[in-house]
Amino acid sequence: MSKIVVVGSGINGLSAAALLAKKGLSVTVLESADQFGGAVRTEEATLPGFKHDLFATNLSLFAGGGVMAELKDDLIRNGLEFISSTKPYCSVFPDGKSIGITMDREANLATLARVAPGDVESWRALTIKLGDLAPHLFPILGTELPSFAAVKSLYKTWRAIGTTGLFDLVRLLLQSSRAFADENFVHPETKALAATWGMHLDYGPDISGGALFSFLESIGGQEFGMVLGKGGADTLIKALVGVIKENGGTVIAGTKVVEIVTQNGKAVGVRTLDGKTYEADQVIANVNPALIPALLSSEELMKPEISKIKNFRPGLGTMMIHLALSELPDWRASEAGEFNYVHIAPYIDDMAMTYTLAAAGKLPSTPTLVIGQPTVSDPSRAPAGKHILWIQVRVLPLEITGDAAGSISGKTWDEVGEAYADRIIKNIEKYAPGLSSKILSRKVLTPADLEKYNANLIGGDSLGGSHHPAQFFFLRPMPGWTGHKAPIKNLFLCGSGTWPGGGVGGGSGLMVANLIGK
Ligand SMILES: Cc1cc2nc3c(=O)[nH]c(=O)nc-3n(C[C@H](O)[C@H](O)[C@H](O)COP(=O)(O)OP(=O)(O)OC[C@H]3O[C@@H](n4cnc5c(N)ncnc54)[C@H](O)[C@@H]3O)c2cc1C
Repeated sequence: MSKIVVVGSGINGLSAAALLAKKGLSVTVLESADQFGGAVRTEEATLPGFKHDLFATNLSLFAGGGVMAELKDDLIRNGLEFISSTKPYCSVFPDGKSIGITMDREANLATLARVAPGDVESWRALTIKLGDLAPHLFPILGTELPSFAAVKSLYKTWRAIGTTGLFDLVRLLLQSSRAFADENFVHPETKALAATWGMHLDYGPDISGGALFSFLESIGGQEFGMVLGKGGADTLIKALVGVIKENGGTVIAGTKVVEIVTQNGKAVGVRTLDGKTYEADQVIANVNPALIPALLSSEELMKPEISKIKNFRPGLGTMMIHLALSELPDWRASEAGEFNYVHIAPYIDDMAMTYTLAAAGKLPSTPTLVIGQPTVSDPSRAPAGKHILWIQVRVLPLEITGDAAGSISGKTWDEVGEAYADRIIKNIEKYAPGLSSKILSRKVLTPADLEKYNANLIGGDSLGGSHHPAQFFFLRPMPGWTGHKAPIKNLFLCGSGTWPGGGVGGGSGLMVANLIGK
């Protein structure tokens, strides 16, 4: 029986392990952290009874993805429970306006007619466009790149939408969020509503490639809503671990892999910090590609096709603030209280400033905020009548050179973290007055803390590597390293540093399982 060692238990490592174990292969997962799941982890991080998703919370990608399709019954048998929200996201603005997007198309058109009447027809047209493009776009996300299957899929798309349609699609893939927003909307609020989704990934409004996510996520939220894990996102991790174990696989936490052992240019196993060697026919590294060189011998690193992976670039940083609350915030835009995500960016120019400042090492004065309100749809995450907030601060410096507002001093996240969190709470107060008085406890996780929890999150980059076009699609992570194969025989890569990129989808784990298990 083929022996597989998986290094790292992120969503992709676990997905690959579960799929391969179910096919009857011998699978061992080695995880350096004390818990499985990587960027998917739930803890009572503030007070007892308040269950916080420390990192990822939105599980929509997994719920609609290929691993779920293959393992649905197994995962449910092992305890997986999802909660669906029909009110996924809302953007709020300094003048008290808001645009909330629900799964009710007519209600959304009515909201736009009230707040941004000039954009009603464009929204309707984009809804139709997503329906037309979905059969071509979504399969690509589940297809190995580059591959013959991808070429076939492209040919099918060309047959369906013609040359001009295909070129329009390529244009969309290369467009920035701002260009997409300007082309489709006239009101600054609707433009911001779409462009904020680019910031979720790695796209300031003026970065080529942001349009796709602005389009897919803003209209996709309306079409698919949002999926959370019942009681916490770790329901998914526990279920995957359960599937691995019930199929005879082994999962070990607290075991750091320090070397991928090679012989004659082939991976033959791994060595762990405690000196053990695990032999393997195939090694799957659920490891940020930039960290692979540290796991290889100097002999391997001398090969130019291997050493070039050191040029894989991180995206900008992320910070998390978790609040235990006595009550939900009193949003000035009262509808915001019903939505899973509230976005405070607020406008496109602010996002552009934030992105540029962060890239230059400055703490942005009004950073882009994604505020998750999970207890709106899952009250089980807090004691009766109480609530939690999940505040993601996008995007932040990898190395701090100063403060754009000039009031915080310090050059390390340990020095500035709490003061910066105070700034965030103050900013939210402008949209939800009185928030501070509702805070029972708070936990701040700076970009540096993110990396301490999970080495893959280099500098607090939540997405395992920049997603700009030079590192995306068939170029992820690097020419010569694509197709989930390292240029070392029997060494496979999965995780957000590989195609199809960041997010709790499991897509790269599925692709690797298909490569090995066929
Ligand atoms: C704060 C935050 C919020 C996010 N929010 C969302 C969201 O709501 N929805 C969404 O879809 N995505 C979200 N993301 C992105 C998403 O969580 C990640 O892209 C995804 O979970 C990464 O999965 P992965 O398979 O790359 O593995 P990772 O999560 O990176 O896990 C890899 C694991 O490998 C382990 N490891 C690394 N090196 C070694 C080694 N040498 N030996 C042993 N173990 C090792 C690490 O400890 C880690 O546990 C968020 C990310 C962050 C950080």
